[in-house]
Amino acid sequence: MTPREHFLRALQRQPVPRPAVGSATSLATADLMDEVGASFPEAHLDAEKMALLAGAGRTLLGYDNVMPLFSVWHESAALGCEVEWGEKHRMPGCRTPLCGSLRDEIRIPRDLLKRPGCAVPLRALALLKRRFGDDAAVVGKVFGPWTLGYHVFGVETFLLATLEEPDAVRRALKTLLEVTVQFGRAQIEAGADALTLADHATRDLCSPKAYEGFLREIHHELKERLRGPIVLHVCGDTSDRIGMIRTTGMDCFHFDSKVPASKARALAGDAIALMGGTSNLAVIRKGAPEIFAADVREKLRHRIEILGPECAVPLDAPWRNLKAFADEARRQPLPV
Ligand SMILES: [Zn+2]
Repeated sequence: MTPREHFLRALQRQPVPRPAVGSATSLATADLMDEVGASFPEAHLDAEKMALLAGAGRTLLGYDNVMPLFSVWHESAALGCEVEWGEKHRMPGCRTPLCGSLRDEIRIPRDLLKRPGCAVPLRALALLKRRFGDDAAVVGKVFGPWTLGYHVFGVETFLLATLEEPDAVRRALKTLLEVTVQFGRAQIEAGADALTLADHATRDLCSPKAYEGFLREIHHELKERLRGPIVLHVCGDTSDRIGMIRTTGMDCFHFDSKVPASKARALAGDAIALMGGTSNLAVIRKGAPEIFAADVREKLRHRIEILGPECAVPLDAPWRNLKAFADEARRQPLPV
C-alpha cells in the first residue's frame, strides 16, 4: 500500500496495515528551509519553492502527505488584505483589516483565483501532484468564513459584532463562505486529494453557543459543496464542540493536544476520523525517543487514525524531531 493510500484510507477510517502519519497543517521549520533551500517568505510566494518545501514533508520527514499552504493568509491576500509575508523565523501577518465595519460590503474579486495569493498555492499543488503521484497524498488547505471574518474585519470588530450585530455577521459569513468554496474546489481541480478546512473557532474566541448558532450549519454546507475528503482543523480545547463537529459530515477532525486523545475519541465516536493531538511543545520540540514512543502508544491505544503534530509546528522545532516522530509512528504496531 502506498503512503498516499495509507493516508486517504485512514482518513476514511478504513483498515491500514500500519499507522498513517501526516499533518493537515504546516510542517515547515527554519532548519528544514535551510536543508532544502526554500525559505519563507519566498516559499509563500513562489510555487516552485513552495512545492519544494512541502515535498520535504514526504521525502525528508517521511509523512504520508504533503501540504504546501504554510500560512493562514493566502485567500485573504487575494481578497485584498495587505499581508506582510514574514521571514524564515516569522510567520506572515496583516496589521490593517480590509473593512472597518460589518456593514461594509465584501466584494469577492472576479479574478480571485488568478491573484498570487491563490494562484501560487494552486500551481504548487499541481506540481506536487505531478511529482508525487501515488507516493504521497496531496493535501490543500482553505480557511473557513469565521477565520476570514477575523482577517477581513479584524478579530475584535468581528467578535464584538457576533454579540451586537448577529445578522450582519451571518451575512458576512455567507459571503465569505463563497471564497472558501471557490478556492477549495480549485485546489481539488489542481490535484489535491483532500483538503484541510481550518477555522479558528477556538473556545476562547467562539463559545459553544456561537459555534452552534453561526458555524455548525456552515461547516456542514462546506463539507457538501467542497466535494472531497475534508479534514476540519480547529485549535485549542474543542471538547465542548467535537460532539457538534461529528454531525457536520466532515471526514476527519485534526485536534489539539489540549483535548486528550481518550476524550477526543470518546466524543468523536465512530462518526469521524481523528488526526494529530500530539503536542508541539511537550513532544515534538522536546524530541526524546521515549517521549515519542509513549505518545505514539497513547494515540494508537485510542485509535487515532492519523498520527502527527496538533497544529503548525513551531518554526524553531528541529526537523529531525519531526522525522523521528514519523519513524516511531510507522514502526509501532496497530492495536488489534
Ligand atoms: Zn491550529
